[in-house]
Amino acid sequence: MSGEGPSGRALTAVKGTHDILPGEVEVWQKVEAETKRLFELYGYKEMRAPIIEPTELFHKGTGETTDIVTKEMYTFEDKGGRSITLRPEYTPSVARAIVEHRLDLLGTPMRYYYIGPMFRYDKPQKGRYRQFHQVDVEVFGEKDPALDAEIVEMADALLKALGIAETETLVNSVGCRACRPAFSAALRERALAVQDKLCIDCRRKMETNPLRIFDCKVESCREQARAFPKITGFLCPECREHFAAFRAHLDRYGVAYRHDENLVRGLDYYTKTTFEVVDNSAGQQNAILGGGRYDDMMKDFGGPDICGIGFAMGLERLIARLALKPEARRFLYVVHQGEAAKARAIELARFFRRGGIETVIEFGGRSFKNQFGRAGKLGAAWVLIVGEDETAKGIFQLKDMAAGTQVGGAPEVLLSGVRS
Ligand code: AMP
Repeated sequence: MSGEGPSGRALTAVKGTHDILPGEVEVWQKVEAETKRLFELYGYKEMRAPIIEPTELFHKGTGETTDIVTKEMYTFEDKGGRSITLRPEYTPSVARAIVEHRLDLLGTPMRYYYIGPMFRYDKPQKGRYRQFHQVDVEVFGEKDPALDAEIVEMADALLKALGIAETETLVNSVGCRACRPAFSAALRERALAVQDKLCIDCRRKMETNPLRIFDCKVESCREQARAFPKITGFLCPECREHFAAFRAHLDRYGVAYRHDENLVRGLDYYTKTTFEVVDNSAGQQNAILGGGRYDDMMKDFGGPDICGIGFAMGLERLIARLALKPEARRFLYVVHQGEAAKARAIELARFFRRGGIETVIEFGGRSFKNQFGRAGKLGAAWVLIVGEDETAKGIFQLKDMAAGTQVGGAPEVLLSGVRS
């Protein structure tokens, strides 16, 4: 590949996307492994849905008035004339898969997790990408607020296990279909009164979904929103009880949190509990994870009447906070010279791999010196020397690169040496 596009300019990754190169990827693997380990301790199972979905799924699931659906989706028509979207979030895919495969018939609650890329056409900046990665958790079929607290506690446990400090957990209740309309009306009235101080976007939100004004990133709108009415005074008895029980369970778990009455989250489907973990050491893009309940989503979807709750955590933002240094992997490099030795070296590489030792062998008839140079450059822990003499005798030399020492022996003896 020449690395040049039709314009003659060097090709680079699409704006807002990034490569995760060896050296960084080890940290990702570690975070992913820890995430899986921890979630499985709480009974979650991995579910992998396609990256592409029918566009309609997000209109129905994510919501028509959200920033994601109005501005940020990667949508295209495929060759069959279908409107396809690269998923901007994962929850609608899980709801679809449950309905499609009737997973609810297997019994509730259903606990799922997923780790993978999401796509949003937003303005790229530090901590905000167009292709980014999320860890996603969903539970369907359990309405007890003890579960809301368990999920927040699990998120907290994950951040602790990864050594992330200086975070704050924010919680709120956004009410339900019974109590939110009165709150929306009060909010609309208040926003109307100060509309010349709001951005164009917020003036539109005022009509379509005034709660969204709390999400606006424009400072003057944020300032206005701070003085807006709060949902807490509008909650119906059921939502108030749910929120109180959720908080009592959090106290029992010993999870520290702050009640933030402005926390509404950017998606339409939330009901009752919402929560976010923010990184107080970061600037603008400071939410590491966010989630909440969505008790009506499945029903709105044409599926069974099953409540849901979950959260999504951004891996780029999380990993930017980690000071993890990946451990260097210890591997064996096989140097060889001559045709017979090459054949024997290939067999020996397979023998060591079968024995559980990472083994690299390279070809191209380089000199011993050159191969030793490569072994050093790649950071090999040991070098196995396979020359004509060694091949004839069946006794090979193994060099420990850090110690600079060398021992001779049959392959079985050398293997037990590197394993110990
Ligand atoms: P959301 O799905 O919008 O609730 O976001 C959940 C989490 O995903 C956020 O707290 C971020 O950590 C992460 N996230 C969302 N959008 C982006 C983005 N464009 N780039 C990087 N991370 C993101």
